[in-house]
Amino acid sequence: MTRGIHAAGIGSSGKMSLFPELYLTSVLQSIQAAPDLPEHLRDEVRVNWYMTQWCNYSCPYCPVLVFHKRTKSGKPQPHAFDYYPVEKWLELFDTVQASKLHIHLTGGEPFLDRENLRALLRGFAAKPRIHTYISTNGAWDPAYFADVDKSRIFLDIGFHPTQTSLNELVRQVVRIREAGFNIAIVNYVLSPENTDIFDEAFARLSGLGFYVHVSPMFPTGEHISREVRTDREMEIVVRHNTRLDLHYKVIWPEMNKRLCFYPALNYSLGWDGGVQVSCFDGSQNAFEHGFPALPRQAVACPQHSCIGCCEMYRAIVDEPLYSNPLKIFTHRDLAQEVSAYRRDVRSKMTDEEVRREVRDLQAALATIRKKRSEEIPHVTVNSIKPALPEGQNVIGYVDAPDSKFYVEARSRDRIMLTGWLASAHYGAPLKEIRFRIGDRQIGSVKEFYPRPDVAAHFGRENWLMSGWRTMIYLPALPPGEHGLIVEGVDPLGSTASIPPWPVRISE
Ligand code: SF4
Ligand code: SF4
Repeated sequence: MTRGIHAAGIGSSGKMSLFPELYLTSVLQSIQAAPDLPEHLRDEVRVNWYMTQWCNYSCPYCPVLVFHKRTKSGKPQPHAFDYYPVEKWLELFDTVQASKLHIHLTGGEPFLDRENLRALLRGFAAKPRIHTYISTNGAWDPAYFADVDKSRIFLDIGFHPTQTSLNELVRQVVRIREAGFNIAIVNYVLSPENTDIFDEAFARLSGLGFYVHVSPMFPTGEHISREVRTDREMEIVVRHNTRLDLHYKVIWPEMNKRLCFYPALNYSLGWDGGVQVSCFDGSQNAFEHGFPALPRQAVACPQHSCIGCCEMYRAIVDEPLYSNPLKIFTHRDLAQEVSAYRRDVRSKMTDEEVRREVRDLQAALATIRKKRSEEIPHVTVNSIKPALPEGQNVIGYVDAPDSKFYVEARSRDRIMLTGWLASAHYGAPLKEIRFRIGDRQIGSVKEFYPRPDVAAHFGRENWLMSGWRTMIYLPALPPGEHGLIVEGVDPLGSTASIPPWPVRISE
C-alpha cells in the first residue's frame, strides 16, 4: 500500500517531483478556489486502519497479500501488534484532534488476534468519542468478546462462498448478532465464483433481517486482469446498487483533479504506524511524527480514478449523481441509503429497464476498453526476428522485481507474480497459464494483458497479449528451495512450461 502526506494534505510522489513548483501551484490554486469544509464537520475524523494482513481465509479475489501463520522466529509481520502493543495504539489514537473519532479496522482479518483485539476494543469502549467499525469474515467466536461494550461497534461481515458454506455463514451472523454485536452490513462480493449462489444467499440473509450489500468485484487477486463482466453479474449489481455506486465501481471514471472533501475527513493508517491523509501518496510514522494536519477545504483529487469505497466518492464536490449532504459516511448510512434506493427506484423497474441499464454499462465498458487498447504503443514488426530457443513450445519469463530472480516467502504466504508467456507456434495463443509446485496446481490465469515491450522485442505482433499477473496462495512447504512450474496451455490443450522459478521458503 502507498501512504503519503504533506503538511496541508498536499502529497508528493515520483510523478509530482518532476515539476514540483508547477504541481504545487496548481494544487494551491485549486485549494484557494475550493469550498471550505462545513463548520459542523471540522471536529469529526475517520481513521481507516489497515491493521493486519493476517487472515485465515484464501479468497481468490482478495486484494491483500495475506499471511496465514505467525512466524516461529518472531520477526514482525504486517500486523499492528507485531509493531506496537495495544496500549501504545490507544495512546496514539488519543492524539487525534477531534471530538468524534470514527475508527475503521480492516485487514486481513482483525479478529484473528483475538486477545489483542479484545483489549483494544475495551480500550476504545472507555473513550466515548470513539465509534468503531470492523470489516471481518465473521469466522470467530463472539463469546470471547462477551465483556466488551458493543454499543459503539458496527460490523461489516463479508460472505466468501469459496471459504465457507452459506449454512455456516448464516449460523455465524445470527450467533454474532445474538451476542450483542451490531451488524451494519453483510457484504457479498460478486466475483465469478460467487455468482451462482447469489439468489439463495441474498434471500436467506435478507429474510433474517440483514442488509446485504452487493459489491461489484474489483479486478484484483486471481482476477487482476479481468476486464469483462457477464450480463448476469451486471444484472445483479444493477438490481441492488445505486447509479452512483455503479458509476464509480464499474466504470471508474477519470477524476481530472475534481474537488473532493474526502482527504479533509480521513486518515489512512497502516499496521506499522505509517499514516497519510487519505488519497495522497507518501507517509510519516504517526508514533514518531504524529498525525498530520488535515486540509480544511476540498482538494483536487490526486488520483487518476476514485478506487472506490462507497464513502469516498460521496465526498466529491458537485457530484451530479449525489445530492445528500456531506458527512462521515458509515456502513449504517450505506445500508439505509441503498435500502431506500432499492425500495424507491430498483423495485419499480421493469425487467426491460434493468436490461437497458445493463446494456448501457456494458457499452460504456466496451468504449473504455477500446480507448485503452488504442493507447497501447504500436508494435514495429521487423522482418528479421530474433530466433526462438529450439525445442521450446512456450517462451516466457517471470518478472524479477529488484533483480531478484527468485521468490522469497514463508510457507502458506500469498505472493504476487507477474510475467509473460507465449506459444512458439504462430496462431496458437495460450488460453491458460497454470502454476504448480510439485504435482499440486496452486493457481491459474485465463485473462492476459498487453505487453508491447515483449511483442516489440521479438517482433511478433501476436505476442501482444502475453502478459499475465496474479496473486497466489502458497501451500504448506518445508523451508528450502522449491521450483514453481509456469505452464502454458494452448487452444488444443497441449501444455509446455518454462524452466522452474525458484521459491525460497524461509520458515
Ligand atoms: S477477502 Fe478473504 S482472504 Fe482477503 S482478507 Fe477478506 S476474508 Fe481474508
Ligand atoms: S475522488 Fe476519490 S480518490 Fe479522489 S480524493 Fe476523493 S475519495 Fe480520494
